[in-house]
Amino acid sequence: MILSEQKPFDEIVAYLEKDKSVFIMGCKGCAQSSGSGGPKQVEEMKKKLTEAGKKVTGTKTVDFLCGKALIKSELKGKIDQVAAADAVLVLTCGIGVQAVAAAVNKPVYPGCNTVNLGGSRGEWEGSERCNECGQCLLYHTGGICPLTACTKSLVSGACGGANKGKCEVSPDRDCGWELIYNRLKARGQLNRLADMLKPLDHKKIMPRPEMMSTSRYALEQSDQEVKAQ
Ligand code: SF4
Ligand code: SF4
Repeated sequence: MILSEQKPFDEIVAYLEKDKSVFIMGCKGCAQSSGSGGPKQVEEMKKKLTEAGKKVTGTKTVDFLCGKALIKSELKGKIDQVAAADAVLVLTCGIGVQAVAAAVNKPVYPGCNTVNLGGSRGEWEGSERCNECGQCLLYHTGGICPLTACTKSLVSGACGGANKGKCEVSPDRDCGWELIYNRLKARGQLNRLADMLKPLDHKKIMPRPEMMSTSRYALEQSDQEVKAQ
């Protein structure tokens, strides 16, 4: 289970400041169960953005947004609606947002923050990973997570040590910040790099005290205990 919660609406509207139209995607997996990005929340977001003056070109809620092949297949009937949008807003966890950003040739924005439940970090069979930082930065990084794509989890830019596109710490891995740079360049968004000024709020990365009494938290803990045995 990956827990996500919607970002404040003001933050989402600020992301869309320069975009007149948007296509909204949701997820019937963890995001629906989190109450952050199922069909109901997608419809509510469509209404709110329309009232805020944005043109919503279409919506799509997919069973699991963490699968790129599924995303491409599900969007086949929505190609015109996606093409008509300036950006795609994704209401789900960081993995789903990254998967959509890899599958769709559009600026892709996160509508949710992925919250640390105290268990395993967000993983799926695809290459996307999420450290559940509670302050999703994917708007600024072309939909590639700097915490997981960069070996040092740098959020303010490259360390400068990459060699021929490979990480100085792990030469078998692509440099995450070169991937981010190349994605932003390809989508005409290099100005985003100027956004990366604030250090991470580490309080948001820790499980919140109020979550520790929830059944979801207990399930994550029991899962960790089973893995440790
Ligand atoms: S920035 Fe990365 S770690 Fe943080 S919520 Fe987004 S995908 Fe997850
Ligand atoms: S070389 Fe790239 S991926 Fe590796 S630590 Fe430096 S910025 Fe991060």
